[in-house]
Parts: sequence; structure tokens; C-alpha cells
Amino acid sequence: MNISPAHPHRAAPVPDTAAAARVADAVKVYGTGGTEVRALDGVSVAFPAARFTAIMGPSGSGKSTLMHCAAGLDTLTSGHAFIGDRELTGLDDRRLTLLRRDRIGFVFQAFNLLPTLTVAENITLPLDLAGARGDEEWIDALIDALIDVVGLRDRLHHRPSELSGGQQQRVAVARAFAGKPDVVFADEPTGNLDSRAGAEVLRLLGRTVRDMGRTVVMVTHDPVAAAHADEVVFLADGRLVDRMAEPTADRVLDRMKAFDTLGRRS
Ligand code: ADP
Repeated sequence: MNISPAHPHRAAPVPDTAAAARVADAVKVYGTGGTEVRALDGVSVAFPAARFTAIMGPSGSGKSTLMHCAAGLDTLTSGHAFIGDRELTGLDDRRLTLLRRDRIGFVFQAFNLLPTLTVAENITLPLDLAGARGDEEWIDALIDALIDVVGLRDRLHHRPSELSGGQQQRVAVARAFAGKPDVVFADEPTGNLDSRAGAEVLRLLGRTVRDMGRTVVMVTHDPVAAAHADEVVFLADGRLVDRMAEPTADRVLDRMKAFDTLGRRS
């Protein structure tokens, strides 16, 4: 039996297993001296498993930095980042790459599908790169849930360039979930889409959470997009300033307006 001794002096916070991802006391400083920018100024936030969380805030408030540091795409200047109970801080590049590959999915504004691969090949690309066969039943269920709803299944062997932007983003969403990651981070996933295609992508992200028990963390500056989430966390000037459960676009918009009038240090 392995009974761990207590670690009263341990600097790292105890991992929170109900969180799919979280950061504690996260500080990120870009540049040095006169050009120093404190993009994150002591943020602690947990992204619960099986929930859809949106990160909102004015431009330059640190949303992308928080996402990149939480997802292991960038490293914190100080503080801690966890995926599940695994701390990212201190992992070397190779371990970080493996952890991202195996446990995190990404959806970017620009779709980032490979043009020379078919839709089906794009969806299984992360698994193929990992040399994993993947869970065929899961991938089939994903395609049913995310692709077939809109009659895309017969396009599985087409190239991305034959699809509309909204269709390409749906493929990117399916790809992000193909390896059953602990968490999918989406960075302005509707930024390149018209409102109708954007709404469809947001509904798909919501469905992965509510019907399939997945976890999504989305950066957005759009109150309508944020309203698809279960909860919105608000950043201003690199700090977490508010959280809102069961958001509506109007309430999010009102909260954002308050930043313009009184929420800002300057
Ligand atoms: P948001 O996503 O909310 O627009 P960012 O996280 O992109 O905010 O940026 C937060 C702050 O950090 C901004 O002041 C931005 O100019 C700065 N910043 C972001 N990335 C870099 C970088 N690579 N080098 C220097 N400053 C950066």
C-alpha cells in the first residue's frame, strides 16, 4: 500500500480532479523592461469536466494567452496549469507535445484542415499521427452527430476545398474530438463564419458536451457565441473579474458594456 506522506511545504496546489483543465495563480509576462506586458496577472480558474465554458473579455484582456497556457501551447511565467490531474508546468517539450496530442483537442478560427487529405482523413489525422487506430465506434458516432446531421457524410471522401466554411469547421470540430480528448479548446471558432454557419458550429460544440459528455473551453469576443456555453468567465486586464452561469447574449453584452464604463484599470 502506498500511503503518501503529507506535503505541507509543497508549492503546487492539490490537483482538482473535477476540472478537465485549470490554472492557478497564472502569470504570463511578455517582453522585458520597458516593453513588458503582463498578459495574465494572477488568474486562477477551473474548467469543469463535461461542461461548456466560454472565456470572454475585451480585446487584449488575455483570453488567448489564458487558452494557450491552459492548453500547453505556451508556458506560464509563474503559476500552475493542469490538464486533469496532470501538471503541465515543468514538462519538457516532448512530454508536452504528447500530452497535447493525447489529451487535448483544438478548434481554430481558420479551420486548419489539410487540403490534400479527404474529410475522413482529416478527421482521423490526430489518431493516425499518434499511430493509434482509434475507437471506430466513437468516430462513427461523432460523424453521425456532427457531420451527418447536415448531410455531409457523403462528402467524407471529398477535399476540404469542396466544402463551405461552415462545413469545414464542422469537420475541424469532429477532428478535435476524434481521439476522445479530456478537453477541446476552441479559439474564436466562429470568427470566420457568417452568423448562420457560426450558430450551427456552436450548436455542435454544445451537443458534444450535453449529449456526449465532452468538455469544451471556448475563447470568444462574441456575446451570442458565449451564450451557447454553460458558463462564461470574464477577463479584464489579465485578471478574472467575473463568472456567469447560464448566460444569455443580452446579459453577456451588458456585462461587457460595464467593462467600457467602469471595469477597466487604466
Ligand atoms: P485577447 O485574446 O483577450 O485579445 P491576448 O491574450 O492576445 O488578449 O493578449 C493579452 C496581452 O498580451 C495584450 O496586451 C497583447 O498585446 C499581449 N501579447 C499577447 N501575445 C503577445 C506576444 N507574443 N508578445 C508580446 N505581447 C503579447
